[in-house]
Amino acid sequence: MMAAGRAAECGAQVLLLEKNRRLGEKLRITGGGRCNVTNATFDRHLLTSRYGDQGKSLHSLFARFTPENMREFLRRYDLETKVEAEQRVFPVTDSAESVHRVLSRYMKDGGVTVRTATPVHELLPGQVDQGGKHLVPGVETGRGEIIRGRTIILATGGTSHPETGSTGDAYPWLRELGLHAHDVDVSLVPIQVPDRWITVLQGLAMVDAGLIVEQYANSALTPNSGLPVRDHAAWANAKRVLVRRGKLLFTHFGLSGPLALNAARDLRALAADGPVRLRVDLMPARSEDQLRKDIQEAIGAAGGTLLKTLLKQWLPPRLVSAVCELCELDPQIRLAGLSRTQRQRLGETIKGLPCSFGGLMGTDRAVVSSGGLDPASVDFRTMQVRDFSNLYVLGDLIDFNRQSGGYSLQICWASGWVAGSHVGLLAGTSGP
Ligand SMILES: Cc1cc2nc3c(=O)[nH]c(=O)nc-3n(C[C@H](O)[C@H](O)[C@H](O)COP(=O)(O)OP(=O)(O)OC[C@H]3O[C@@H](n4cnc5c(N)ncnc54)[C@H](O)[C@@H]3O)c2cc1C
Repeated sequence: MMAAGRAAECGAQVLLLEKNRRLGEKLRITGGGRCNVTNATFDRHLLTSRYGDQGKSLHSLFARFTPENMREFLRRYDLETKVEAEQRVFPVTDSAESVHRVLSRYMKDGGVTVRTATPVHELLPGQVDQGGKHLVPGVETGRGEIIRGRTIILATGGTSHPETGSTGDAYPWLRELGLHAHDVDVSLVPIQVPDRWITVLQGLAMVDAGLIVEQYANSALTPNSGLPVRDHAAWANAKRVLVRRGKLLFTHFGLSGPLALNAARDLRALAADGPVRLRVDLMPARSEDQLRKDIQEAIGAAGGTLLKTLLKQWLPPRLVSAVCELCELDPQIRLAGLSRTQRQRLGETIKGLPCSFGGLMGTDRAVVSSGGLDPASVDFRTMQVRDFSNLYVLGDLIDFNRQSGGYSLQICWASGWVAGSHVGLLAGTSGP
């Protein structure tokens, strides 16, 4: 939508083919319906560092279209934005629909022709132009219709949430053209925790939690080879291999929210090396020592206080019950009645609720997929596929490791804008 609108604004005649009945189904569900539209990270080096090792290749793209440019673009259509935690940018309307409306108006203003319910079936066989570069003369739709175009922009997305239309259709097309597309897998995806107690926490969001991954020393064991996650002695020699902090959401199947999504890719790799268990730190701002002292002080100040009364000062009520259950402590016990071992177990549990790792959820739950077209095949100054004179790619179709926080959409806007600008520019010149 961005690429089509921009190309039209720059003077190209644009036809947008969409297989769904409506455009932008995935955009509508972004950010839980609020659309985390971009991230207000204005230092380009910092911004590109959020995309892993491949991020370096994005310098030229983000030099051409920054997060601030996206905010200005929305402002042009009277949609203001606000910056929330972790520099996440949202529309002030808290509505993804309002972002969708801006893009629709942008395309309408430029005179883009939109054909929905029109799946592209394949690209027409490549040719070689006079300059020795490859070119793709057009596409064939699912109805067998041949549509020729001077330039082709592919924006078919990745494979996450396939019900929105992103089913990885373009990967075989690109492979047929001799391009390298990495195998797809889920990337930003929730984590399964098959422990029964976690289901009662469904829907509970923690603004600040810690996620710790411990790996068992004996790699001969498989992740589910009967190591009880609650048996701290069995895990005593396990190594902390990942510690992160952020916003966490408990769900009926396990853990989601930015903290879980961002850890998923690393977690998958760690779990492949040996058994892991997760621990959720409910009070990451306090060290273990500090918490021990705080418990001790509470006992000294009012030993007759019930355990649940103390915990309610620190934790949401549902977590109070979960902590007591996991520590095997009666919430009605008086603080003075806690033994040394019980106090220690309480502190350990608050600083790391033990959770079994049951694997990652599937593409239907993933925010983005990993894999896709190798960024090395793309010229990010124009979004043209290298060695092709008229083929452009953008968005989730390209393989980038990225964090949750508006970084995915920032690539989409920037690559759409840059591709559209270049195509629009070419529209005024003679070419294929
Ligand atoms: C639940 C969820 C929440 C998210 N929230 C955020 C967020 O808040 N912030 C953020 O930055 N990112 C978020 N993302 C990621 C973001 O939505 C994607 O990065 C972005 O939508 C990718 O845009 P795209 O244009 O590359 O592909 P898509 O949005 O996947 O669009 C591809 C389009 O191409 C169409 N298509 C596919 N194949 C064909 C074909 N053969 N013929 C014709 N049309 C075809 C599809 O129907 C679809 O409309 C979220 C993702 C999900 C799943």
